[in-house]
Amino acid sequence: SLFITDECINCDVCEPECPNDAISQGEEIYEINPNLCTQCVGHYDEPQCQQVCPVDCILIDEEHPETHEQLLAKYYKIAQEK
Ligand code: SF4
Ligand code: SF4
Repeated sequence: SLFITDECINCDVCEPECPNDAISQGEEIYEINPNLCTQCVGHYDEPQCQQVCPVDCILIDEEHPETHEQLLAKYYKIAQEK
């Protein structure tokens, strides 16, 4: 999944772009729920939140790498639960 760094300026433009409703306003800054973020796999070729963030504070979580197959599996799991 992706995560939001503390550079976030709480501009709110990323939240409506997420096809998985993975982004929400946290206590200080916006947050991404890693259980819902598929890095946009299944929906788009590029992570939509990264495309719109004006300060480029949305990064890939290198400490928890996920393969394309894992992200696709997450996409199907979320689709089933909807
Ligand atoms: Fe949502 Fe896609 Fe951003 Fe993940 S990468 S938080 S799924 S918009
Ligand atoms: Fe924060 Fe970037 Fe989202 Fe704006 S687009 S709320 S700066 S993460």
